[in-house]
Amino acid sequence: MISIDKVSKWYGDFQVLTDCTTQVQKGEVVVVCGPSGSGKSTLIKCINALEPFQKGDIAVDGVSLANPKTDLPKLRARVGMVFQHFELFPHLSIIDNLTIAPVKVLGRDKTEAVAKGHQLLERVGLKDHASKHPGQLSGGQQQRVAIARALAMDPIVMLFDEPTSALDPEMVNEVLDVMVQLAQEGMTMMCVTHEMGFARKVASRVIFMDQGKIIEDCAKESFFGDTTARSERAQQFLAKIL
Ligand code: ADP
Ligand code: MG
Repeated sequence: MISIDKVSKWYGDFQVLTDCTTQVQKGEVVVVCGPSGSGKSTLIKCINALEPFQKGDIAVDGVSLANPKTDLPKLRARVGMVFQHFELFPHLSIIDNLTIAPVKVLGRDKTEAVAKGHQLLERVGLKDHASKHPGQLSGGQQQRVAIARALAMDPIVMLFDEPTSALDPEMVNEVLDVMVQLAQEGMTMMCVTHEMGFARKVASRVIFMDQGKIIEDCAKESFFGDTTARSERAQQFLAKIL
């Protein structure tokens, strides 16, 4: 579903990604972790074509991002993205947050989009909040709305960038529960997160990044299991967060 092939990226003279290569198969859940500044957000943004890269290629569902003929807005519409800060539209009701893109970008019928929006709100446990505004919801609730909003576009893959790291601790699990449910339903997911409980529960693979490079890319069992197989950097990192 996602193929990242020798991707390098610079911000001016600063090389932020170096030769990153990995794949995410349909139905896989890949967790990306690593120290702050290691390039995790940049890599995720490249997959969604929110950031350009200078070398290598990324293909999403077989469509190359480096190909100048690719319709990037069209591709982006099929990739769900959930950020650390929920970035809901503050002036719109929750249901309008969920229907604006399906109607305006996909040209869906408004009534249909509203019906689907209500279904999605039910799925993330927020069916009674449709007419509220984002400011009236807790952080955990807003993040669940952000997930529902991404799902409203029927994405072929979901990208998460530290979706729980801005939340108060008591709200982390309600968001992780929704992500676990999605994973168990077979959604293809790439998640930047340091929630190793989540990784242990649903990850197919764990990627560890450091200084713009993918240092480890292995099955969950070997990442958490055989410590001798891990790089020193990954061990130091895990020791800090576990
Ligand atoms: P992470 O998500 O792993 O914390 P980022 O991808 O956000 O890392 O950032 C990787 C590196 O790139 C950091 O050193 C950061 O300062 C730098 N960086 C990120 N965005 C920009 C930008 N727009 N311009 C210049 N440097 C940036
Ligand atoms: Mg980041």
